[in-house]
Amino acid sequence: MIKVGVFGASGRVGKLIIEDLKQSEGMQLSAVYARRELDFGIDPSVLVTSEMDALLRASDVVIDFSLPEACEKLLEATLNNPTPLVIGTTGLSVHQLNLLKEASQRMPVLYATNMSLGVALLNKLVYQASQALRDFDIEIVEMHHRHKKDAPSGTALTLAESAAKARGLELDEVRVSGRDGNIGERSKDEIAVMALRGGDIVGRHTVGFYNDGEFIELNHTATSRNTFSKGAIRAARWLVEQKEGLYSISDCLGL
Ligand code: NAD
Repeated sequence: MIKVGVFGASGRVGKLIIEDLKQSEGMQLSAVYARRELDFGIDPSVLVTSEMDALLRASDVVIDFSLPEACEKLLEATLNNPTPLVIGTTGLSVHQLNLLKEASQRMPVLYATNMSLGVALLNKLVYQASQALRDFDIEIVEMHHRHKKDAPSGTALTLAESAAKARGLELDEVRVSGRDGNIGERSKDEIAVMALRGGDIVGRHTVGFYNDGEFIELNHTATSRNTFSKGAIRAARWLVEQKEGLYSISDCLGL
């Protein structure tokens, strides 16, 4: 039985992971981290703790869907207590990403800004299209619910990175995050990544390739957060079998 710990357990995705684990054969929820009392019922066999080390010790693998500052604390704790980690938290800073790389030298870490199969494939398609459609302008639009804190989404940035990499560009040098006023014409290599927020949209990403006379748009829409929770559980099952290292969702899916 694989013992799974959940970090960010009271969040939108965390709660679904707890529910979905009940249907996951060979896996059981062993511990959740909670800063204060949980606002939902949980099986009494599950350890509810506000101590990071206790969460890690009770788990064969920990799934994290929290906030960047919280994820940082979790990563720091694993330096003393290496435990396989599936990280879904987005908006990580350069320092936090470096910490993640450091941790992955001691244990397997899977980091994915999107746990869905569809987006993993979309990343591959964006890479291919960016190479094949050399002269097309690339623009990315993402839409999420009104509660989302980071912008643009981690998924949109990952898609933009795939596009830039396919064309041998550094994303930091070509990314545009807004257009307003008399800014002049679009430059050839720029890739805009725009974020819209509203309502209860789970997640929608469109990568467009625009040329004179034609355009093509690749679109992915998540209609349920279970896509992410189930994807994270599938990743955790796979990750416990791996040796230390940093893995992506494509590694797990064999894409
Ligand atoms: P949420 O706001 O509903 O939940 C956040 C959770 O983090 C809560 O349980 C909260 O208690 C916990 N938390 C916040 N600060 C903390 C701290 N200092 N210490 C410990 N715990 C803390 O958010 P959500 O919608 O569930 O999303 C969580 C994260 O996952 C976000 O970064 C979001 O962008 C990302 N996300 C990733 C994917 C993916 O597939 N990778 C999909 C959806 C969301």
